[in-house]
Amino acid sequence: MGKIVRYITHDGSAFIIACDSTDMVARMEQIHKTSATATAALGRLLTGCSMMGDMLKNKEDSITLRMNGGGPVGDMICVSDYMGNARAYIQNPVVEIPLNENNKLDVRGAVGTNGNMYIIKDIGMREPYVGQTPIVSGEIAEDITNYFATSEQTPSVCALGVLVNADLTVEKAGGFIIQLLPGCEDEMIDKIEANMAKIDSVTKMLTNNFTPDDIAKAAMDGIEIDKLDESNTEYRCNCSRQRVENALISTGIENLKEMADSKEDTQVECHFCEKKYIFTPNDIKKLIEKSL
Ligand code: ZN
Repeated sequence: MGKIVRYITHDGSAFIIACDSTDMVARMEQIHKTSATATAALGRLLTGCSMMGDMLKNKEDSITLRMNGGGPVGDMICVSDYMGNARAYIQNPVVEIPLNENNKLDVRGAVGTNGNMYIIKDIGMREPYVGQTPIVSGEIAEDITNYFATSEQTPSVCALGVLVNADLTVEKAGGFIIQLLPGCEDEMIDKIEANMAKIDSVTKMLTNNFTPDDIAKAAMDGIEIDKLDESNTEYRCNCSRQRVENALISTGIENLKEMADSKEDTQVECHFCEKKYIFTPNDIKKLIEKSL
């Protein structure tokens, strides 16, 4: 189980959310069999998406983060529910590129910087909210910060980390987001900036057995903070046979007729969890009847 905690400063001028997403990113790696750099890239996006999901208000709300910077990983899509349970898809799971100049996994090189980050919030309105900002870094945390600044006019700090073992399993993953709320004084901003300058990386903190509570407290060192809530999170896909049937019906009657006539089973695989749904020609005929 992953864990997310949320705190607010005692004076109500800043908010922090922190998480340990190790289990979620480990599951992601098992499903998609990502190479180390792709694990780091998609794992960071998944971790950010999970925290942004946990910031949503209502039970039916969901958020989608989509990035394509023209790099070798191609399209990356993550979706989270309002509790931070999230799922991920990557177009090219196996990307092998050299380490970057800091001897770290080259997430920027894998993601690319020529494209946009899209944030789609389904929050019960007739049309979902769609935000779009250019990819400014490709390292993902900075791109989320840039999204908050330009699309939501909310100054933020975002830190994300994924540590991949030599055998490609996930050792640690997690992150935090701090948001300055209206009325935040310079003194508070200075304190947070000073903390950011001295704080260890997320993966280092997690390796030192920091819990999400410890991470939040380290990021807000010297600032009085009150806990709002905490929740457990997991890699979770909401696909079902019913949803796949609806998707098939939406491809149109002509397409369904072709499938029904082909005598071969139709296999549909979920992009997020790779669960396979099999439809016999007879199943397809029933769908055709249903859609008439
Ligand atoms: Zn699925």
